[in-house]
Amino acid sequence: MVLAAIEEYDQLGRDAFLDRYGYREARDYFIIHNGRRYDSKAIAGVAHRGVGGRPLRAAEFSGGSATVGRVFGHLGFLVTSRRDASPTGMFLDKIRNLDAATSNGRPKRHQPLTLLWALGRAAHRQERIAPWSVTRAEISALINEYGLEGDQPNPEYPVLKLTHFGLWTLPDHPEPPQPSGSPPLGWMSRNQPLSGLREWVYDLVTQDETVRSQATAYLLSTYFPNVDQNALLTRVGLDDADDEPLTPPQNRPPERRLATVRRIIRDNALSRLIKTLHDHTCQICGIRLLLPHGPYAEGAHIRPLGSPHDGHDVAGNLLCLCPNDHVLFDQGAIVVRDDLTVVNRLTSESMGTLRTVPGHDVDTHYLTYHRNLC
Ligand SMILES: [Zn+2]
Repeated sequence: MVLAAIEEYDQLGRDAFLDRYGYREARDYFIIHNGRRYDSKAIAGVAHRGVGGRPLRAAEFSGGSATVGRVFGHLGFLVTSRRDASPTGMFLDKIRNLDAATSNGRPKRHQPLTLLWALGRAAHRQERIAPWSVTRAEISALINEYGLEGDQPNPEYPVLKLTHFGLWTLPDHPEPPQPSGSPPLGWMSRNQPLSGLREWVYDLVTQDETVRSQATAYLLSTYFPNVDQNALLTRVGLDDADDEPLTPPQNRPPERRLATVRRIIRDNALSRLIKTLHDHTCQICGIRLLLPHGPYAEGAHIRPLGSPHDGHDVAGNLLCLCPNDHVLFDQGAIVVRDDLTVVNRLTSESMGTLRTVPGHDVDTHYLTYHRNLC
């Protein structure tokens, strides 16, 4: 019914649609659908003809976040009061502002793990909505493996928190309980709700790999600074590798030496994520190499992995580089200062500033280690 109203709005145009049904232009609340903005109250009133037999007039109900906004949100639509809102902006904004409780000063990982689980499903285009038995078992296992010490593996709380926060939905339950105390446990167990990402979120993260990568990178660097992030990505299925013609088979041992004929660089889910974030553009020189199969860049560890350096496989320890700069950096001809100035050690000349993108912050501890190594 809502989609039919939106279609009519598109056909008539805004003015004629509002005119026909007697609505004024919305000031505050809009539905965002397929990248376009719609006056939310008018759409709600017109959609109501499918329920009540006729469209509602503007004076017959009130618009706003508590009424129209809540119903649309529950149906999976993105409703916003911001005029400049885009689904991408709204989604990343929410990802950066999760209300995660802390344990010994560290943010708890229940919501980030729930989101990573859902992003992994979305990356593989699995069903958006899953039965509670599946959701509960899989997220519990993740919390057991990747949660903080002493965390209860109760997915009830993150799922309800994310639902009230506007990222998740329980489509059959318009008024789920608040995520506090013991009631959620009994309620979820009794109701066995279907649940999943809201439709606008799911559509966004299935269609836009860059947004998915930005959200993933942000969650990793904020909540999992000391975790093997590549292993976590693989664990939640965020390790697509189908566009990497030069990737060696997974069971092949990492190759760190220079080969004279063809260099095969260890490539994993985390380095693919970082390269996607940078659109395969070198952080030092800005070159984006295009091969017949697509763009090519290399994930370069700042502090080398393995003995004796024992660098970590985390986003903050990776750069996205072209092959030339990768060699120069690995061999110590290039260093990066803490202020991200790139310096040629042979000439002491500055080569400009390391290019950065949202979602990927280099950890300066690793840069210090690399400079000391050189
Ligand atoms: Zn380069």
